[in-house]
Amino acid sequence: MVDHMTKHIFVTGGVVSSLGKGLTSASIGMLLERRGLRVRMQKLDPYINVDPGTMSPYQHGEVYVLDDGSETDLDLGHYERFTNSPLARDSNYTTGQIYLSVINKERQGEFLGKTVQVVPHVTDEIKGVIKKLAGDDVDVVITEIGGTVGDIESQPFLEAIRQFSLDVGKENCLYIHLTLVPYLKAAGELKTKPTQHSVGQLRQIGVQPDILICRTERSLSREDREKIALFCNVPKDAVIEEKDKDFSIYEVPLSLMDNHLDELIVRRLALAAGPLHMDDWRDLVHRLRNPQHELGIAVVGKYAEHRDAYKSIYEAIDHAGVAHGAQIRIQRIQSEEVEREGPECLLAGYDGLLVPGGFGERGIEGKVEAIRFARERDVPFFGICLGMQCAAIEFARNVVGLAGAHSTEFNKDTPHPVICLLDEQKSITDKGGTMRLGAQAARLDPDSAAAAAYGKTTIWERHRHRYEFNNIYRQQFEAHGMSFAGTSPDGSLVELIELPSHPWFVAVQFHPEFKSKPTAPQPLFAAFIGAALARHAQRGERYREVELP
Ligand code: GLN
Repeated sequence: MVDHMTKHIFVTGGVVSSLGKGLTSASIGMLLERRGLRVRMQKLDPYINVDPGTMSPYQHGEVYVLDDGSETDLDLGHYERFTNSPLARDSNYTTGQIYLSVINKERQGEFLGKTVQVVPHVTDEIKGVIKKLAGDDVDVVITEIGGTVGDIESQPFLEAIRQFSLDVGKENCLYIHLTLVPYLKAAGELKTKPTQHSVGQLRQIGVQPDILICRTERSLSREDREKIALFCNVPKDAVIEEKDKDFSIYEVPLSLMDNHLDELIVRRLALAAGPLHMDDWRDLVHRLRNPQHELGIAVVGKYAEHRDAYKSIYEAIDHAGVAHGAQIRIQRIQSEEVEREGPECLLAGYDGLLVPGGFGERGIEGKVEAIRFARERDVPFFGICLGMQCAAIEFARNVVGLAGAHSTEFNKDTPHPVICLLDEQKSITDKGGTMRLGAQAARLDPDSAAAAAYGKTTIWERHRHRYEFNNIYRQQFEAHGMSFAGTSPDGSLVELIELPSHPWFVAVQFHPEFKSKPTAPQPLFAAFIGAALARHAQRGERYREVELP
């Protein structure tokens, strides 16, 4: 019997950043998985931070949290939404982690006094983390290299993936390069030169791409393809077009399939694959394109102008929208703006309000005011993590009558610390990976809106927080109508609060957005959008009544 050999696909990017390498890698994973192959996904990030957990969402987008509590790059969100590849700590490495490990080994004397160098020590470490994902139960490992070819930081990674095919055999590796073929208006044509240069840079390192995926605004002509193939030294059928999707990212896998990318990969790696099943995905895109309703949802957060800062939240809202046949117009509102302009002028007219998670004091009062507006005006409200904490602060101040109530994260001397530090957090001073992280169980009150949404009373959701609801205020809150509908199994931590007197007011300490999939929306998001839809329909009727003579 021949030993099982895991095959490796490496995805690199060239010309410019933000080409959608994560999405393309996730789409490749999806196509292969839907041909019956067992896929593992991995991202190697060239920056020196030891993990993405301490990086600003301004610069780097959201921190994506896995079940095992790893804080990872947001591209892993694409992987989880598009594939069933199990992701864990080994699915994301940064240069910082690689070096930290090499330096620790050196400190422990593992290199026996030898000179420790980028080649071979750092490159060996990189190859080691790639090999970790291979195994008898894995057909293909897809490793995405972050950054752009030509960046100084990427060099050790590119060198490592070059060596990799020497170690495991050329026939077991496939190099896919994602590149940009820009359209130049003045010349009225697509330009292939940047792609030639970028492939040239890869070849200098010794990596000859097998497949080029060309991001482009316009379709590649036969001549464009021939030129790219000739100058980049790839066969014509390995020049794959990935045209910009003005409509939805969910079209990317379909377009790669139409360009026969899966067939090409299966052939090149001699994979024993079955036929491709994409009917449910086609159906999803069809439903996205043909909505029955249109809803407006306001998301009031600290980083309104940065789409990537709440990436998974927006995705989860979209998934819930598709499930209800609704197209969602998401209005991103900066909470500081609510402080300046007042909630009435900014929030009237939306069918639902969502306040996402976050850190830092800036814009907190705006969130609190927005939540008050939603509570008093019966607007469906969904609070997530910091959003739940702000809902508790709002309720304490405006309903329970606890003037000056706050979280000790923002005011250490508040007379009413309704949100305070988790006990286990009090002695921690390190910043990286030290929060309450990852999947934890919670128990729901069977009569709650949340239990109705989930259809069960024990749930597992991912967490990322240091502060929690202060239990000494529970009774006072309950006396004023707040329901603590979800807690940790031992009852000690508040996980979910609800206002039964409100049409839909649910706030959670966890991050449900990380477990939503396009074809399987997260239950609370689905229920929130359902409530928004009900309000929309009701308002429509009311408006019509008013319009009638
Ligand atoms: N800053 C809050 C805490 O640490 C909320 C965190 C979050 O929203 N992810 O508890």
